[in-house]
Amino acid sequence: MDNSRNVVVVGGGIAGIQAALDLADMGIHVHLIEKKPCIGGKMAQLDKTFPTLDCSICILAPKLSECYRHKNITIHTLSEVKNVKGERGNFVIDVLKNPRYIKEDVCTGCGDCSRVCPVRGVYNYFDVNLTTQAAAYIPFPSAVPPVYLIDGEKCAYINYGICELCVKACGAEAIDFNQKEELISIKNINSVILATGYDLAEFENPLRGYGYKKCKNVITALEFERLICASGPLGGHLKRLSDGKEPKKIAFIQCVNSRSYKAKQYCSSICCMYSAKEAMIAHEHDNELESYIFYIDVRAGNKGFQKFINRGETEYNIRYVKSKIAQIKTDAQQNPIIVYEDFESAKIKKLKVDLAVLATCIIPPDGIEELANIFKIDLNKYNFIKTDPFYPVLTSREGIYTCGCVHEPMDIPRSVAEASGAAAKAAESVREVEI
Ligand code: SF4
Ligand code: SF4
Repeated sequence: MDNSRNVVVVGGGIAGIQAALDLADMGIHVHLIEKKPCIGGKMAQLDKTFPTLDCSICILAPKLSECYRHKNITIHTLSEVKNVKGERGNFVIDVLKNPRYIKEDVCTGCGDCSRVCPVRGVYNYFDVNLTTQAAAYIPFPSAVPPVYLIDGEKCAYINYGICELCVKACGAEAIDFNQKEELISIKNINSVILATGYDLAEFENPLRGYGYKKCKNVITALEFERLICASGPLGGHLKRLSDGKEPKKIAFIQCVNSRSYKAKQYCSSICCMYSAKEAMIAHEHDNELESYIFYIDVRAGNKGFQKFINRGETEYNIRYVKSKIAQIKTDAQQNPIIVYEDFESAKIKKLKVDLAVLATCIIPPDGIEELANIFKIDLNKYNFIKTDPFYPVLTSREGIYTCGCVHEPMDIPRSVAEASGAAAKAAESVREVEI
């Protein structure tokens, strides 16, 4: 076998980042492949983390910049794996790199292109489409790599051959409309870590039953994170999207399509804790806030979790309602009305609130089947990556490891721990091949 010292990590969220950093610190070269324009994943979008209520980006940002500066890490953004040949010790991986239309090594991140760009109204995925931006943009201010990109579907020059204002504005001469899709081949790959994370389900019918998209004041938990985050669209001052009023009564709805016979039968694992966290943060913004958590049962199994839930009840006055939601109605003022079966009284009840927050189900990431086909690995019955029950970082194929939510829903600390486990296995593989 080839004595390759390279490892490919697919997915630039917290799990992929941690795995890449661990390997790089061991002197192993990592190619970190990310579909989005920047690394950071969903953790970068969160306001705070549980159970410590630490600022999420404050924990993540040093890791982002360490990844960016590490001499043993090559970051490939806007990139997707298309083909894999070979075996453990000597994989060859073809990666499709999509055009950024801005030279990554030249752009200074000054933002002048974005300021002059006349095309506005391009949805910002980082703010879960709650805000819009120019066709030339950076997903968020501390994005890594710290460079802009141009949305090829919206740019006036790319689509109609007019404009080029950004070209005139860019003193660094970084704009490059000649960039095309490019297939690059990464050779001498010892092993691979798959860490492509998760998506959040938006099943049209069941969610419509919860009033989502019908009522502006029924939002998802990730939308809530962006709305309450200081770097989010409201500058951290939580307001209702219908009328800009501050909500005084919020309902957090657990298990939305998780643990459901008609939707996904598994537990999404993190919603009990992040809903408690979100209610606490909201309370810190307004200590007169009334918050209700509608739950089937609270799954707070890890260290310190039950204490966190208890703290929410005692210090933040969160009211837990053991129940099953039938539907969320809306009145003329766009107030959500929670219709639920109250388990304690065995009665159908209603509660009018100002805002309802849905803990939507974690599902495997878009493209998981293609990824499994490319890497020739098995998926489990829920379409997450199938792993060895005793070694959760081992997939069905030798030399392909995994970590984080791509194989089952889990919280950030466990994703990080698993990432280190997957990195250790990949490093072991590198050493074995070297011997
Ligand atoms: Fe980068 Fe040029 Fe835009 Fe400045 S104006 S952010 S250097 S592309
Ligand atoms: Fe914006 Fe495209 Fe015009 Fe540049 S050429 S300013 S990205 S619309």
